[in-house]
This record gives sequence, C-alpha cells and structure tokens, in this order.
Amino acid sequence: MRKKWVIFLCLILYLVAGFFWCNPGIIKETSGNGVSGEIPAILVDESGEQGDFTWNGHYALVRLEDVNPASDITSLEDCIELLKSKNIPFSIALIPIYKNPEKNVTIYLHEKPELVRLIKNSGATIVLHGCTHQYDGETGIDFEFWDETSNAPLEINNTEYATSKIELALEELKRCNLSAEIWETPHYTSNYDVAGVVSRYFSKIYEGYDRKLTKNEFGQIVVPANLDYVKGEQPVQSVFEILAKAENISSSDDEDIVASFFYHPFLGTDYLRMLIGGLKKQGYKFVGPEECILSVKPEEIETIPQYS
Ligand SMILES: [Zn+2]
Repeated sequence: MRKKWVIFLCLILYLVAGFFWCNPGIIKETSGNGVSGEIPAILVDESGEQGDFTWNGHYALVRLEDVNPASDITSLEDCIELLKSKNIPFSIALIPIYKNPEKNVTIYLHEKPELVRLIKNSGATIVLHGCTHQYDGETGIDFEFWDETSNAPLEINNTEYATSKIELALEELKRCNLSAEIWETPHYTSNYDVAGVVSRYFSKIYEGYDRKLTKNEFGQIVVPANLDYVKGEQPVQSVFEILAKAENISSSDDEDIVASFFYHPFLGTDYLRMLIGGLKKQGYKFVGPEECILSVKPEEIETIPQYS
C-alpha cells in the first residue's frame, strides 16, 4: 500500500515538473548573470510607446545578420515587419553571393528578385558582410579572409584576393541597384593586408566589441556590436545576457557607450521582440549606424589600433 503511494507521489511530481519544463515562461528565470525576471514581462514591449518613455541617454543598435541569397525570405520579412512596426531603425548585414562548394551551389543576389525587393523596401542601412562569407566552405559558416584551420592569414596574396572579392561584391550589389557604405568582416577576422584593402573602399566598419565608437589605424570609424548576438542553441539565455549587459550600460553616466547587438532572422521574431521590448523598457533609443556615427564628434572618437 505504501509503495503505491510513493509511485503516485512520484507520478504527480513528474507531471508538475514536466508542466514547468514545457512552460518555462511561467516560472521566474534567472540567467547565468544573475538577472531575474519573468519572461512574459519582457515580452510586453509596449512601455516605450505609451508616453511613459524616459530616455536613458544611450543609443541601441540592431543588425539583421548574414542575410544572403539562400536566406529564408519569410523569416527575414517577419523580422523586418516587426522592426518597421515598432519604428526601429536597423541595418542588414548582406552577403551578395551564396556558395556551398560541397554541394556545388552558387546563388547570386540578382537571382533572387524578391529578396532584393524586400531589402530595398526595408529601409535598412546595408552593411556589406563580405562577398561570399566563405573561402572553401559554406557561406555564413566559413571565414572569408582567414584560415581557421591553422588560425592564420590565408596563404595567398591577401591584398589581391581581398580586392577581387570586394570588387565582385560591389559589382553584384550594383547589379541589384543596391549600395553599401559600411563594411563588416566575416567573423570579424582578417589581417592587416585585408583590412588595408577594406579601408580603401569603406570609411566605416561595423564590428567588434568596444563599448563606444572608435577609430582604427586606417582612420575608419568602427561601430561596435558589443552586446554580441542571440545564440541559436541557448536563445533565452542569450536574451537575458544581452539585457543584463544593456542594463549595466543603461545606468552608466558615459552616454557615448552604446548597446549594440545583431540577430539572425532564421531564429524567428520571438527573441528579437523580447530584446526590443527589454531595451525599450531600459530607456534606449534605437538608431541606425549612420545616425549613431553622426551623434558623436569625430575629434572625440578614440583611436584604437586593431591590427598593430
Ligand atoms: Zn557573418
């Protein structure tokens, strides 16, 4: 009889645990950074739109990442619609040519007119994110200007290679009637020669983890992405970590510090909605990278060399 009760009790415990496991939003969640809060609360992002918004003095930036000719149009469109509906300026990190050598696939942006139209009508600032974002692997995963196997520069003439890749990328953009004035290095990784070539084409780059806008040794203005991104394998944890870092910045008196993150549209809109709602609640004003650059006096931007 007693054994039956133990089994019954275990069954009840199992069901209760299972219920909370499947509905994590019901319980209070604490991230690794010790930030606590209820998920549904940060899902409600209307606070900034009801007249009780007080600017914390800091800017926030969001970039939709790794958009390329093989991207899923629906999820990109959903993210764009969400941002537009909340009047949030944003940028798109665009890779104009998709390649997967293993499957012998190459897709050019001009072969995807629907995607081109969507990008054009999005009003986003376009950031050129490499030409193919790969060297011998798949677009978006592989490095374009770095050998990740030996963790060293590619054993080729990097100046010639980078020049031809950038020229090819710009040609493809032109073919689609698009243009980009900001560059983002794939996986933020290259060497001095490649960076030197990039500086001949772009006076602004959008990468790295500095807290403020900086200048590099080539005189380029560097807009950071200091809050990193939502990781697909632990998205809720990432959201909490980003919001925790942003909360920290929000209470800083140094208003030149920005809260800047990027987001992969294939994750859907849920985490993007959480971040936007959370950042608005913390009092952030969203700007695009160009507006952010204009908000700082050029002579006040610190020079931090990246490659020397
Ligand atoms: Zn990328």
